[in-house]
Formats: sequence, C-alpha cells, structure tokens
Amino acid sequence: MPAGAHRFQVGTLRCTVLSDGYGANPAAWYFPNADGAQLADALERRGAGCERIVVPYTCLLIETGREVVLIDAGLGGGSNTAGAILARLEVAGIRPKDVNTVVFTHAHPDHIGGAVDDRDPLVLRPLFPDARCVIAEAEWDFWNSPRPDLRGMRVSDDAKSIIRFVARQCLQALRHQIELIDGEVEIVPGVRAIPAPGHTPGHLALLLSSEGQQMLHLGDAAVHPLHLEYPEWQNGFDLEPQRAIATRRSLLTQAAGGGMHVMAFHFPFPSIGRMAAGMNGGWEWTPGW
Ligand SMILES: [Zn+2]
Repeated sequence: MPAGAHRFQVGTLRCTVLSDGYGANPAAWYFPNADGAQLADALERRGAGCERIVVPYTCLLIETGREVVLIDAGLGGGSNTAGAILARLEVAGIRPKDVNTVVFTHAHPDHIGGAVDDRDPLVLRPLFPDARCVIAEAEWDFWNSPRPDLRGMRVSDDAKSIIRFVARQCLQALRHQIELIDGEVEIVPGVRAIPAPGHTPGHLALLLSSEGQQMLHLGDAAVHPLHLEYPEWQNGFDLEPQRAIATRRSLLTQAAGGGMHVMAFHFPFPSIGRMAAGMNGGWEWTPGW
C-alpha cells in the first residue's frame, strides 16, 4: 500500500485506514483541564511541541465482500490536503460510486466535510452518490435544531461558528441519503454502531467483529494518546465533558477487557493499536496492528 494507507483484516472484514491529512490546533483546546506543567512534561516526553497539537484525520474503509463501507469522510474542501480521501480511495481501487455506506461517527467538519463536494459553494453535492449515509438520530436532531448550543465546548468562538455552519450545511446537502439510527445497530454484518455520547449528542463508536477478532473504533471518544494515559483529561471539543469521559472510560474498559484492537480517528497514523491498563487508572497505547 502507498504512504497514507494501511491494510489489515478483522476476520473476513478487509480494512484499510486512509489518511485524509491533518490539522493543527492550540494544545489548550485538546487538554483544557490538564495541569499545565504536567501537560508540558507529557508532550515533551513524546517529542511533541507544547503550543500546537497536530491531529491526523484517518478514515476507515471496510470491504465485506458484498459491501463497501467508509467510516468518516475527512475534512474535504476546508483541508490543506483537500481531496486526499478520494485519491486514497482511488489508489485502494474504490470509486466514489462503489461506496454503499458512509457512517459518520458525528457531524464535526473533519468527519463529514469530505462527503460533500463544495467546489461550488452555492450548490453542494454529495461525493458518494449511491451511498446511504448513516448517522445517529440524536446527532441529526442536534445540528438541525434552530440554534445548536455549543457553549459546553472550550474552543474559540470562531471554531464553534465554523463547526456549526459546516455540520448544518453538510447534513443538508446529504439529506436525501441520510439514514438515521437510534441505539446499538448492526450497519452491515460485522459492523455495529454503539452510542458513545458526550463528544457530541449522537457520537458513535463502532465495533467490528469477525471470526473471533474484534476492533473497537473510538471515533473521537479520545483524540490523543494522552487521553488514554490521563483519562480524566478532557477534550475541549467535547460538548459535554463529563459525559464524554464516562463514555471514554466505558469504551476503553470494554476494549482492554476484550483484548481488542482499537482505532481512533485522530491518533498518529495509522491510528490503530492496542491498549493495556497503565498507571493511575489510565491506559497505555501501543500503536500498530
Ligand atoms: Zn474529529
């Protein structure tokens, strides 16, 4: 596989992680309640800068043999690597019309923007014309409410405005293809959506299971490996921080207990790994398959 793509199997499910590029934001946005000195020390240990955090965007292609499923579509036109996801799909042998299902873990721009062609800002077009677009009903209801309340997030007001605008605009552009789900739902055989609220009201995790192998996709329930090591450290993009942390703990306990592989959209590429119980009630991240 070329750089930016990595293939592995979960039982009979052929999985490929595809990089849609990356962004960078102030460290304080990702760790708003972390002790400053402790955070600086933890970032330094990882060789990372203390000012800005680089966050990769990693989508997951699942080929079941019958179905082609894409989990999250990346940022799309707003990205410094706009179009990356389509190029990576093409290299993986997938044309946009081959995609049967796109699942959005949630409607933040870095997950939904890549499903929409915004080259003509007046006429947004779906990029996967034949795909059903699966999203939680709670997510759809939240962003389509008259004025989605983002006061719980601790990022700049500009960032909140962009997030609100893009989410609403993309959901509107995709409205004829949207399929709403409620609760735990098997989307295709072996791929189950699990409600994981807190980051957003309808945020989803995904459990892949086939032939005794399992992988848990956290979505944005953790956006940096330090969120495993220090599970009480909040993420400023979480709408409901306490609920997000309860969800994160529950997912990580499930993954560690089941010896599962784990994927997280924003973790260092290829964004897959394993975790084990670490010190102080946290977990240690070991990247790779
Ligand atoms: Zn995200």
